[in-house]
Amino acid sequence: MTQPMKYERAIVIGGGITGMLAAKVLSSFYLEVLIIEKDELSDAPENRLGTPQAFHPHRMLPLG
Ligand SMILES: Cc1cc2nc3c(=O)[nH]c(=O)nc-3n(C[C@H](O)[C@H](O)[C@H](O)COP(=O)(O)OP(=O)(O)OC[C@H]3O[C@@H](n4cnc5c(N)ncnc54)[C@H](O)[C@@H]3O)c2cc1C
Repeated sequence: MTQPMKYERAIVIGGGITGMLAAKVLSSFYLEVLIIEKDELSDAPENRLGTPQAFHPHRMLPLG
């Protein structure tokens, strides 16, 4: 079976869960997928400016 032709490049703005999922799907159709994210991402999970909703002051404390 022949492989479908791939387009050159797709650009996704925002590297949240939606952006990463979109990039994953697009990678089947594009040779290169570029994610443009305004925050610097760390290797470990963390709260960051681009996702202010990530910090939940109401969440249960570890010793709660
Ligand atoms: C107050 C609040 C509480 C929530 N609580 C929950 C919960 O308990 N459980 C749950 O499952 N969901 C919760 N949600 C919903 C969840 O946070 C969202 O559905 C989810 O984060 C959406 O993901 P997203 O990738 O679309 O957007 P986001 O996670 O907001 O990601 C957007 C990304 O785009 C980047 N970005 C923005 N502008 C630019 C730009 N100009 N250039 C480059 N990059 C840019 C940001 O830095 C960020 O990384 C909550 C939402 C809110 C607002």
